[in-house]
Amino acid sequence: MKKHFYVVLFALLLGTLSSASAQPANRYVQYDSKITFKPDEAGISADVTLIIPTSLLQNQQLTLLLSKQQSISHISGTQLKSYAIETSTRVPPWNLITLNFEDTQQPSYSVNLKYAGSIDETAGHGNYINKQGAHLSIDSAWHPFVADFATKMTGKVQLTVPTDWELFSPGHQQRRTADSRLVINDMPAIDVVLFAQRAPQIKTVNNVEVIYQGITSTKAQRLADDGSQCLTALNANMSSDNQLARAHLIVLERNGPSFARGHYISMSKASLSTRQADYQYVCHELAHHWTPFANAMSHDYWMMESFAEYISAQQLKRRFGEHAYQQVAERWQQLAKGVGFVWRANTPERASHRVNYGLGPLRLTQLANRIGNKKFAQLLAWYTANDVTETEQLLNKIGEITSATTQAWFTKQLGQRERKK
Ligand SMILES: [Zn+2]
Repeated sequence: MKKHFYVVLFALLLGTLSSASAQPANRYVQYDSKITFKPDEAGISADVTLIIPTSLLQNQQLTLLLSKQQSISHISGTQLKSYAIETSTRVPPWNLITLNFEDTQQPSYSVNLKYAGSIDETAGHGNYINKQGAHLSIDSAWHPFVADFATKMTGKVQLTVPTDWELFSPGHQQRRTADSRLVINDMPAIDVVLFAQRAPQIKTVNNVEVIYQGITSTKAQRLADDGSQCLTALNANMSSDNQLARAHLIVLERNGPSFARGHYISMSKASLSTRQADYQYVCHELAHHWTPFANAMSHDYWMMESFAEYISAQQLKRRFGEHAYQQVAERWQQLAKGVGFVWRANTPERASHRVNYGLGPLRLTQLANRIGNKKFAQLLAWYTANDVTETEQLLNKIGEITSATTQAWFTKQLGQRERKK
């Protein structure tokens, strides 16, 4: 009976995906998750079914990450040969769940996990569940995801939440009953994220909503205005077949990094400062709609952050002028001082904060200065419209639209320390 259900579900998901996306459906893990919030216990209980395309298995194996706070009561799958749960050495508060499947040459395999547990609010990553709402990102590993930090997932989450919570998430939602919502995420992402709040404070300007805590309504209004202006400008600049129709900017008093998943953008009050810096911050997050998602732990990750910095600095210049832009360039210089390099082919580690938000955008600026605005705009148009997740792809494209000499020059630039001035 259960097996039947999976087969039907898979067909349904495939159907939706192939019509919604030009990319082949079998590149992504698909989840069908049922999550019940338990605000009194700061926790959840979860029943997650994953459909894993065979093409994503290595030696019939796939490894997931899930917080140790979530205790697993059940793992099963008709073709699941065995599984192992062990501490992640990379992130010790998390478990690695290694799934071994039979080799039956079928196109995909399914696995069901049941678990329950709380969210550790003291961990300092800005995730929580309380009676007022919830903020859940990859940082609490509350929902399983693939341990390579790169394999994308799509799917749906059925949530049981207090009736008066408003829910914000990537994708789109359906309200089924008073306490049941369905979130459908058809944009591939490495994680499942959401925010919920009882009686949220919201400011709206055109297609941008700012949902906020801990800042004044005047500041929230200004952020909504900034968001709307920048979103309009970005949509006008970017390819017409990939527009961002709307944005939810969620500003919370929380720790942990800001992140963008399509229209869903989670920001932090602590990162707000001056009007001009806030404008660039909002533009940076919006720009991520057009920066292809590279492996979050790889040496290619610098591209998405540095391009978002570059794009947002251009938007800042456009709105506030050359002086505002120079201040950003100065900040890049300060961050980049003495930093070793942006990217080297033989060094697999993810670059540091100072590279992503300093030396990286500086190197892109140097490239723009060398090849000229027209060619750089051509490069940017290509980067923002394609799945450019490896630095070599960028280098080859530079060679293609300029010359082998420029490609070699930029490759060398990426591997060099920024001189102290
Ligand atoms: Zn960013």
